[in-house]
Amino acid sequence: MSFHALPPALAAYFAALCALTGACMGSFINCWALRYAAGQRWPTGRSRCPHCGRALGFFDLIPLFGWLSLGGRCRYCRGPIGPRCPMTEAAGALLYLAAGVTFGVTLHTLELMLLSPALLLLSLIDLDTMELPGGPMLYAVAVFLLFLPAHPQPPERLWRGVAAAAAVFTGMLTLTLAMDKLLGRESLGGGDLKLMAVLALYTGPSGILLTLIAACLLGFVTMALLRARGRAFPFGPALCASGFFTALWGEAVMDWYWTLMMR
Ligand SMILES: [Zn+2]
Repeated sequence: MSFHALPPALAAYFAALCALTGACMGSFINCWALRYAAGQRWPTGRSRCPHCGRALGFFDLIPLFGWLSLGGRCRYCRGPIGPRCPMTEAAGALLYLAAGVTFGVTLHTLELMLLSPALLLLSLIDLDTMELPGGPMLYAVAVFLLFLPAHPQPPERLWRGVAAAAAVFTGMLTLTLAMDKLLGRESLGGGDLKLMAVLALYTGPSGILLTLIAACLLGFVTMALLRARGRAFPFGPALCASGFFTALWGEAVMDWYWTLMMR
């Protein structure tokens, strides 16, 4: 059922539910990424203050409000807690809200809600460690296959996705090898290429082109921001954001582009 077909009260309830579950997802993923950077592969045990090590209570863990109500400080030692946690929670809320409003109460919304934690986790891990682990990518492929039968045309979605993944992987691999030779250093990592292939499954052939264009534009912005701080530049976050944008609004953007061209 489309979001705009819902009665207003139900639509407001659905939107609030999306934002709240998305914020909780963001909170959990941020915690997982921090632990991954510290060498722990799975998040186990309770969240602790990075300064005094006290285990955080239930109220400290309420997304956004926990951080805002304490003014970005630990309840026990008043040590500063950076804005990364509430920012990831806000990102999670926005991702779920965008999926819910765009595709309404459908299985496709649920598919994107299950895909987004993998993309958020990959983005944060890439920012922290310049690595793109394979686990979240395999999970994203599994979500794609799980929801395939629920799609209106499963065989078409499958072959379009696989063709796009194979084309973007081989095409970008060739380009990367040529660039590496030309520059004498590594230009794109193997993780970036795999991530492009995974995103192509979801977006299809024309969608992955849009994803790459958007990722390059976004990549330039993040590169400028990070270089200004003297930090290395990971391409994963730009790819994840562009891939999710295309999965949400790629078709609308391309329809708009074609009508513009046909005038
Ligand atoms: Zn503390």
